[in-house]
Parts: sequence; C-alpha cells; structure tokens
Amino acid sequence: MNTSDIVIAGGGIIGLSIALELVSEGLRVIVLERGRAMSEASWAAAGMLAAHDPENPSVLGPLSKMSLSLYPAFLDHLHRLSGQNIPLRTRRALQGSRRGELFSTQAGNLAGLIDATTAIEVVPGLNIQGRQFLLLEEDSLDPRDLCLALPRAVVASGVELAEETAVLGVKVKGQSIVVETTNGNIDAGAFVNSCGAWAGSLHGSTGNFAPERLGIEPRKGQLVTVQMPDSESLKRVLRTPEIYLVPRGDGRIVIGATIEHRGFDKAVDSDVVQTLVDEACALWPPLTAARVVDTWVGLRPGSGDGLPLMGRCGGDHLWMAAGHFRNGILLAPATARIMRQLLAGERPVVPVDPFAPSRFGLEED
Ligand SMILES: Cc1cc2nc3c(=O)[nH]c(=O)nc-3n(C[C@H](O)[C@H](O)[C@H](O)COP(=O)(O)OP(=O)(O)OC[C@H]3O[C@@H](n4cnc5c(N)ncnc54)[C@H](O)[C@@H]3O)c2cc1C
Repeated sequence: MNTSDIVIAGGGIIGLSIALELVSEGLRVIVLERGRAMSEASWAAAGMLAAHDPENPSVLGPLSKMSLSLYPAFLDHLHRLSGQNIPLRTRRALQGSRRGELFSTQAGNLAGLIDATTAIEVVPGLNIQGRQFLLLEEDSLDPRDLCLALPRAVVASGVELAEETAVLGVKVKGQSIVVETTNGNIDAGAFVNSCGAWAGSLHGSTGNFAPERLGIEPRKGQLVTVQMPDSESLKRVLRTPEIYLVPRGDGRIVIGATIEHRGFDKAVDSDVVQTLVDEACALWPPLTAARVVDTWVGLRPGSGDGLPLMGRCGGDHLWMAAGHFRNGILLAPATARIMRQLLAGERPVVPVDPFAPSRFGLEED
C-alpha cells in the first residue's frame, strides 16, 4: 500500500493550492484526481478576483481580502515553479447596480461610486440603463493560464499528482486513514476532500464522515467567448448583478454566466447563450460587432448556505475544503493558507467559524 502524510481528493484549484502550501512544510502530499487536473470548475471560471463585488456575502470579506493580499506571491510562486506566466488581464472593474435600482447602502463599501459621465469615460459605449456604477480596483486573470501553470508547479514542488485516479471512499484505521481509489489503497495521516461540486458524493466507513449532509451541489454556469474586431475595445471588467463581460486583452471577451440548479448537466443551451449575448449587447452596444467563438459550461461547487466549507469534517483526520461557489479562483490562496494552519493545529489568521463544516450539524470528531 502507498503511504502519505496527506491525501487530497480533487485536482482543481482548491486541492492543488492546498497541496502546494502543505508540501512547503516538508509534508508528503498526494493529490488524487479522477480525470485531468484543472479540468472542471477551475477551468470553466471567468477569472475575476471579485473581492469587492457588492453581491458577495459580507462574511466573505476578511477571507477575500486575505486572498487578494496573497495573490501576487501565489502567482510568482507558480511562475517560478512552472515557467508559465499568468498575466493579469485587467486591473479595474466597472460594477453596475441592478437595472433601474440604486446600490443598497447595506451592500458594503460604496467608495468608488462614480457619476454617469465618468462611467462612460471609463467604458466608452456603455449603456447606463438607469444603473449606478462603482469603479473598483479589481484584477482578473485567465483561468486557462492557471490550468497550464498550477499542475506543473505542484509536480515541480514535489507533490505526487495522480490523475485518472478516483477516490472511492475513506476508512478510519486507528490513527490513520485508508483512502480507497480506482488504483488501489493509500494509507494517509490525513485526508482532505476538495472534490468541488462532487465533494458530497464521497463515502466513508465512519458514521461521522457524511459530506452528503453539507448541501454541496453543482450550480451550472454557462459562458460564451466572443471575439471583437478590435483588441483594445474593452479594457475593464464590466459587471452587473445580471451579466458580466471579462476582456482577455486580445479582443476576446468572456460573457457570463447563468446560475442554474440542473444537477451535473453540462449541456450548452443555444437559447441561453443567445440571451447572455443579447443582455451583454444591451449593456455594452459595441459588442454587436463581435462574433461568438466558444461556449461552455462549468459546475460551481455550491454549499447549503453559499459559503465555503473549510475545516474538520467527521473525524480527527478527515478534512473538507470545498463549496467555494462563485469565488474559488479568488479564494484559493487564502483557503490553502488556512487549511495549512488548521491541519497544523494553529489558529487561522482570519475567523473561519462561518466556514466550519460543523455548522451543518456534523460532529467534528
Ligand atoms: C461559470 C463559472 C464562472 C466562474 N467565475 C469565477 C470567477 O470569475 N472568479 C472566481 O473566483 N471564481 C469563479 N468561479 C468559481 C470557481 O471556478 C470555483 O469556485 C472553483 O474553481 C472551485 O474549485 P474546486 O477545486 O473546488 O473545484 P473543481 O475545479 O471543480 O475541482 C474539483 C475536482 O475534483 C475532482 N473530483 C471529483 N470527484 C472526485 C473523486 N471521487 N476522486 C478524485 N477527484 C475527484 C474533479 O474531477 C475536479 O477536477 C466560476 C465558476 C463557474 C462554473
């Protein structure tokens, strides 16, 4: 039987970022990925580091700020280990209120509120549509760059990345864990479930390990990429509660996204795609010159209350890091740091009680 200090299930951005953080402590880490690493939600994402989106739950604030502060070093680290650059594609975002509504004063920080004339200067061609606008200091990246860099970086750092290897279940054996996989069993000191939208499907022999009770479910998101004739036409992320446009800096603009409760369905619906494009054109009419070049679906990992799950789940050696819903790209560096601190028995640098799996009534041990 193979052995490891820590076994992580799921090779998305959450599992791989945790692996990178733990291996730097000298631990032996194995990541088990049932398909190819970074091929699910982490591949599908738009890539906004939207820490200041007024639609975010306010309880995410400290975690989001922590993650933003870790991001430059995270990207440098990936670049050094993988040789792959991950450029920031945009450095600012224009955030609109809901159509015909003002921002709620409870929605958080209204610093950055600008008038209509300034909004049109920031994004020429913008259709105000009775909205207010905030100009946010907010970066975006292309997750496909992360898909190239992160698995390479993880392997270069000494993590064992086992692709095409699904976790079937976990068993507690005395002070250790036996992880059952499609390629045999692994004896581990601890197990972290980072299976994204699938995190609720893993089974264990211990009565307390019941991730299916955490309300983790896929939230389907459909996206479209269009190509503009002019690469410089949109230079900032343009986002409202109904629609967002994320330019990649080369004339491609990602338009998203739906949030649908359709189980694990990953079919693209052409009518839905057309609606996304129409809404985007209404907000930013120059987009009518663009042509659709790609469409796809990703399954966000939703949780019972829309907040991430980080912490012990059903036993001393069983851990959970999942449920990052709309913000897993943003939150990955902070999640990795916090999981390292929790696994080491340290006090995390930001409050994590709101994210404890025990809030769903699961015993911690
Ligand atoms: C349409 C859309 C737009 C988004 N836009 C943004 C954005 O702009 N900004 C942002 O911050 N976030 C965004 N997100 C959210 C972000 O993509 C997710 O929160 C994040 O990718 C979740 O990462 P993860 O590692 O938990 O899940 P995933 O990337 O889905 O990884 C989970 C992995 O677990 C593997 N797995 C499942 N079961 C098993 C098993 N039994 N054994 C082994 N492996 C298993 C899967 O194959 C998968 O590779 C978006 C998501 C979507 C879908």
